[in-house]
Amino acid sequence: MKLLHASLCLISLLLILPSIFAASSSEDFDFFYFVQQWPGSYCDTQRSCCFPTSGKPAADFGIHGLWPNYKDGTYPSNCDNTKPFESSSISDLISSMQKSWPTLACPSGSGETFWEHEWEKHGTCSESVIDQHEYFQTALNLKQKTDLLGALTKAGINPDGKSYSIESIRDSIKESTGFTPWIQCNTDESGNSQLYQVYLCVDRSGSGLIECPVFPRGKCGDEINFPSF
Ligand code: 5GP
Ligand code: 5GP
Repeated sequence: MKLLHASLCLISLLLILPSIFAASSSEDFDFFYFVQQWPGSYCDTQRSCCFPTSGKPAADFGIHGLWPNYKDGTYPSNCDNTKPFESSSISDLISSMQKSWPTLACPSGSGETFWEHEWEKHGTCSESVIDQHEYFQTALNLKQKTDLLGALTKAGINPDGKSYSIESIRDSIKESTGFTPWIQCNTDESGNSQLYQVYLCVDRSGSGLIECPVFPRGKCGDEINFPSF
């Protein structure tokens, strides 16, 4: 009788194990937002900005982050405090990161504080797929692949302080990358709406762009400024 009871317990345990794993994998994520910022729009706000210790960054979009997300629009964050940011594990990437992922927050920094924040808040939530080195390498590859400024200037949209229709901005990025971006605006010191960040969606492996399963909330005006930097 005891043996029968023990076997029944074992069988039920084996039956529920897969659902325990399914539950923990639903704690994971569905896709990434790859977010790039226009430095001119980070800097010309009331808050202003500070150039990194390595000098004024190029007049180009910079990486803000690669953010794991769920299809329902929510997202995980700070998933593993046992895996701190280790610059020694990405020493081969540092010079590319200074160029492509510059920090503009004050006070001036080398970028490590920004990268550490992005790794700890977002990167640790994609560890089931990519490790720390791959996380930063993936973002750098995506930056190269998407060339947002090239896409815009090819369509005659230049960072010249003039205003452009949000539709023309969206269309030119779609034309060049093949995928619909989401545009986030902020406001300059005088309160004008301007092109701040561009979101593109990336599959779970980090290898390719996809159409966004869900867009963040928020809206720009129909016409927005593209400030110089
Ligand atoms: P904000 O409220 O300025 O748009 O976002 C503040 C921060 O919250 C972002 O820098 C990012 O770390 C996080 N965040 C905002 N929206 C999203 C989102 O849709 N997905 C993810 N993964 N993080 C987000
Ligand atoms: P998030 O909004 O991604 O959660 O947080 C961004 C954090 O990184 C903030 O604490 C912000 O001060 C810092 N940070 C450092 N440099 C930059 C930068 O160039 N752009 C943005 N958006 N945040 C930066």
